[in-house]
Amino acid sequence: MTARVGFAALPLMRPTLALFVLLLTTACATSPLGRSQLKLLPDAQLAEMGSRSFEQVKEEKEISEDARLDAYVGCVATALIEQLPPGWNSGWEVVIFEDASANAFAVPGRRIGVHSGILEVARAPGQLAAILGHEIAHVLASHGNERMSQVLAAQAGLLAASAMTDSSTPGGRATLAALGLGAQFGVLLPFSRTHESEADLMGLDLMATAGFDPEQAVVLWQNMAAASKGQPPEWMSSHPAHSTRIGELEARMARAEALYAQAREAGRKPHCQRPPEAPEPS
Ligand SMILES: [Zn+2]
Repeated sequence: MTARVGFAALPLMRPTLALFVLLLTTACATSPLGRSQLKLLPDAQLAEMGSRSFEQVKEEKEISEDARLDAYVGCVATALIEQLPPGWNSGWEVVIFEDASANAFAVPGRRIGVHSGILEVARAPGQLAAILGHEIAHVLASHGNERMSQVLAAQAGLLAASAMTDSSTPGGRATLAALGLGAQFGVLLPFSRTHESEADLMGLDLMATAGFDPEQAVVLWQNMAAASKGQPPEWMSSHPAHSTRIGELEARMARAEALYAQAREAGRKPHCQRPPEAPEPS
């Protein structure tokens, strides 16, 4: 299924379009890796929308009640979050959902969802750190805002829609997809190749800085490739090919290894115990 955008807001479009064009010419930003970005909405507004939508997901999906799994994922997430730039070290929420698919997602507002099935692919703490580092990076780099801005740029009428996160309307579903919740609501609007690569590389730096062996990111994608048997998992159908991602990670590995060595030197050696009852690789 692809994202469809409704035109219900068309009568309100004219003043909105003027505002939109103004925004379009003034809303350029730069990502943490130095790429220029189009950001039409204040990050605070995206955070608000993301948090609200995440609450909706929490109501609709089954949340894991496994305290040891929670502690394990929390341990890895905390080790990463502690190494984020000032101002980013608090306010995160990581929720594990009972879902066998190998999926994880990030939403503006510092919300991260982890499907229990991802642990069949992320089989060691360092591999889970690669997943969580990647998701944290999507939030840190405002990819949700950028993608939302791309949706707005494509369909300026949406800007006027007030019920932007109502999953029962096409416009609302497009917005949810733009926030990073596409798969959760059956709309396919994945992050772009550019966003995926940027999140991979930022996540690699982050996991190494937190004291996780960056080579584990490569192992993760090898597991992912093996698990998908040539076909990318559903949530990654438009993600870069596994071999491309591994190549990009390898190209940054020397830098990540240096960060990892510094982290170990500084005593950052996260001890996160994978619980025995976590799903085992099949
Ligand atoms: Zn991603």
